Amino acid sequence: MIISFTDLQKEYLFLKRDIDFAIEKVLKKGNFILGEEVEAFEYEWANYLGVAHAVSVASGTDALFLSLKALGVGPGDEVILPTFTFISSALAISHVGAIPVFVDVSENNFLIDPLDIEKKITKKTKAIIAVHLYGFSADVQKINKIAKIHKLYVIEDAAQAHGAMFENKKIGSIGEIGCFSFYPTKNLGAYGDGGVIVTSNNTLAKKIIILRNYGQIKKYVSITDGYNSRLDELQAAILRVKLKYLDQWNKRRREIAEMYDSKLSPEVKRIEINNNSLPVYHIYPIFVSKRDILMKGLANKGISTIIHYPIPVHHQNVYKNYYKKEKFPVSLEAAKTELSLPIHPFLSNLEIDHVIDCVNSLIRSSYKSGKNIKLETAIHPKEIYRT
Ligand SMILES: *Cc1c(COP(=O)(O)O)cnc(C)c1O
Repeated sequence: MIISFTDLQKEYLFLKRDIDFAIEKVLKKGNFILGEEVEAFEYEWANYLGVAHAVSVASGTDALFLSLKALGVGPGDEVILPTFTFISSALAISHVGAIPVFVDVSENNFLIDPLDIEKKITKKTKAIIAVHLYGFSADVQKINKIAKIHKLYVIEDAAQAHGAMFENKKIGSIGEIGCFSFYPTKNLGAYGDGGVIVTSNNTLAKKIIILRNYGQIKKYVSITDGYNSRLDELQAAILRVKLKYLDQWNKRRREIAEMYDSKLSPEVKRIEINNNSLPVYHIYPIFVSKRDILMKGLANKGISTIIHYPIPVHHQNVYKNYYKKEKFPVSLEAAKTELSLPIHPFLSNLEIDHVIDCVNSLIRSSYKSGKNIKLETAIHPKEIYRT
């Protein structure tokens, strides 16, 4: 049995009629940038999240970058974020000329640690990027409280959390600004790059609408040095088809997660879910000491897994010289032990049971005696793509 980490071909075959129709409609119309599909998608996405505005952009990275720009974050400012995240969260801060200030993650859920946030706030701090890693809600209640006391903006990096909830609110609608990515493998993905910014702040929304389109307030009238960062009509049309399935697909992801939760060996460490939240399991992460052996063992049985993420951001080449002295023990531990098991809406119960059996038997047998192996040999060549 070959079990892939994602299966976008299967998804396309399932949606084929609607997707083909949506694409054809755009092609026949011949309008590809900032047209009806984008407008309709933005309206539908804002509605889905319960916010006043959704402004689509070219990627999740641009969503973060343009949010920081619109908030006026720039050179000399500091922005707090977890070091255990996808590098894009930090790059957006660098790209506005501000300084990323890394904090550690909490031991129980590997999400940004509110206690560490408080320790890192200085006079220069302008914002906190709360990353809802894997589709789990960061502790937005505590983060908002801290932000209020210190007058900081909260930017939600919801690139992995389309449809996730905290209390009765959608993730992304809780901070000043929420950022989403439509990278193809995200819970809501385009067939190319894309992203969106959501906010209920009218002024911010207006600024971003100008920034994403060459700084123009109308055609050929620019009032600032803006960018070219837009979602195109084809992607918007595709996203409109897929949005109809988001809740159903997230529900299926939760069903799979429940199977993993109840049947995986108790030796496998799992994320502790915040009581008031509803996760969407973009990733199903487990944390095991001999991670690389388990990964190799699963690969030998035809099961694809990925590590999210093997290197904390402060150790990446761009940042490592600036953060030599600081220690982030929980993030390092997470990077050493994390393994993401297959989870996507097109996996069958039979396939999930097979993954569970393989993980459990590897943990019981060879895995116990083996030495941990080198990462390079553990990664199957086909797995060198990110989700
Ligand atoms: C995917 C992702 C991004 C970046 O999105 P792109 O669309 O690939 O630019 C940012 N943050 C997190 C946490 C992500 O997973």
